[in-house]
Amino acid sequence: MPQLLNPYAATSDVDLLSEAFARTEDERDPLSKLRAEFVIPTKGDLRNKRYGPVEQDTQGAKHVLRDDDSDESIYLCGNSLGLQPRRTREYVNRYLDTWASKGVFGHFKPLEGGHPPWLDLDDALKEQTAKIVGALPSEVVVMETLTANLHLLMSSFYRPTSERYKIIIEGKAFPSDHYAAQSQLAHHGIPSSALILITPPSDDSPCLTTEHILSVISQHNATTALVLLPGIQFYSGQFFDIELITRHCHSLGIIVGWDLAHAVGNVPVKLHDWNVDFAAWCNYKYMNGGPGVIGGLFVHDNHGKVEKAQIDGDAEHNDTRAHYRPRLSGWWGSDKSSRFRMENKFVPIPGASGFQLSNPSALDMSSVLASLDVFSLTSMEALRARSVRLTAYLEQRLLRYDSKTPPYKIISPTNPSERGAQISVLLNPGLLDYVLHYMEEQGVVVDERKPDVLRVAPAPLYNSFWDVHRFIVSFQEGCRRAIAQKGKASAQTPNAVA
Ligand SMILES: *Cc1c(COP(=O)(O)O)cnc(C)c1O
Repeated sequence: MPQLLNPYAATSDVDLLSEAFARTEDERDPLSKLRAEFVIPTKGDLRNKRYGPVEQDTQGAKHVLRDDDSDESIYLCGNSLGLQPRRTREYVNRYLDTWASKGVFGHFKPLEGGHPPWLDLDDALKEQTAKIVGALPSEVVVMETLTANLHLLMSSFYRPTSERYKIIIEGKAFPSDHYAAQSQLAHHGIPSSALILITPPSDDSPCLTTEHILSVISQHNATTALVLLPGIQFYSGQFFDIELITRHCHSLGIIVGWDLAHAVGNVPVKLHDWNVDFAAWCNYKYMNGGPGVIGGLFVHDNHGKVEKAQIDGDAEHNDTRAHYRPRLSGWWGSDKSSRFRMENKFVPIPGASGFQLSNPSALDMSSVLASLDVFSLTSMEALRARSVRLTAYLEQRLLRYDSKTPPYKIISPTNPSERGAQISVLLNPGLLDYVLHYMEEQGVVVDERKPDVLRVAPAPLYNSFWDVHRFIVSFQEGCRRAIAQKGKASAQTPNAVA
């Protein structure tokens, strides 16, 4: 991957550390306006036990407890659950109103304002999803959830033989991906030793070099049926070289699938041009579709073809048999024109849609459409350019700690082209709980991975340079206090192990 320069590496400390710098960066960037598309929880909202925003209280009850309750929180956790687009409420209400007033007609009858009936919502989502993952609209579909989709795709793409049966994943794979691959082996009666793990050097340096990945694949090339890797690694934030790894696998006759949970809506990818065989993702992280919302998948055009062949000797009955990649099927994957004929003749829709099983939740699709309509206000390329600056700013601020060595280290790649929005920070032992508690008090939301890692993700759609500045102030003060606290505790109990 090309080395991208960190745009702030040469900025003077005086400039970089100032509030004004963050403010100016926000003002200069036209994409800063997209923040207004989102509901940003206030600090009071997060502290309160009520489930709605504080300002919506009509009972006149006093929920405001602290001076900064009405300040916006510092939400840097879009890699776990993206914030709610303002328009989601409108789209979901439209769904509720349609259901309430039209019942089953909601499936078929177009509504005024050009809103598609539920039956066509999945097509409306394909166009916009395709742009985000660099695919043809026919190569993507919004369906099911991520782990379920990985299984469905593996049922089609993992076809072990006595020669080729291994699955290669990374050693630090998200547990669900590990379980999915492991259980696919068991499902085919293949011993678990056929699961090959690409393991990073250590917990302190969780990144994998491309050479390491390619060499493990080469080492097992004759016996491997499938490689399944993440586009962006959830723990380290590393952005893998999807194109190069895919090409390497194909040169060895190996199928390769990508889990894009942390990549979709975060970095631009070109699944079609890179000849990726298949991919799956969820729509609730950088995609902001809402917790547990319907996911998506990609099947390359090369694999989605449905060819009708005349059955030998049966020409007079004009009987045809469809040839297509085998899969686990359901009625929603069958040709739309015959879907409601109930003839028990499954002919898949060409492309990714032919992998659908059930009629998709219109509620979920409404929510995903709201998110996609926000994405369509910009492009992944423009968003990426903003993201590179925002994350570089976060990195440069983290590197400057009271002109001293920080009590933490960055474990994400330093080359901006090898990472997305996320920076993972490994704290010195014993600090994490205190720091987290301190930041929570201050309305900072980040993700923790015990024992010592914080994952900080400025999402380019709604996070600002000002958010990053406020995070740094809180985080570094939390570190100072945690160290002081630890010092005091060990002074009081001299026998304690430091
Ligand atoms: C978030 C995430 C998942 C979650 O899977 P679900 O099926 O949506 O619960 C799986 N894999 C990876 C790599 C993830 O980041």
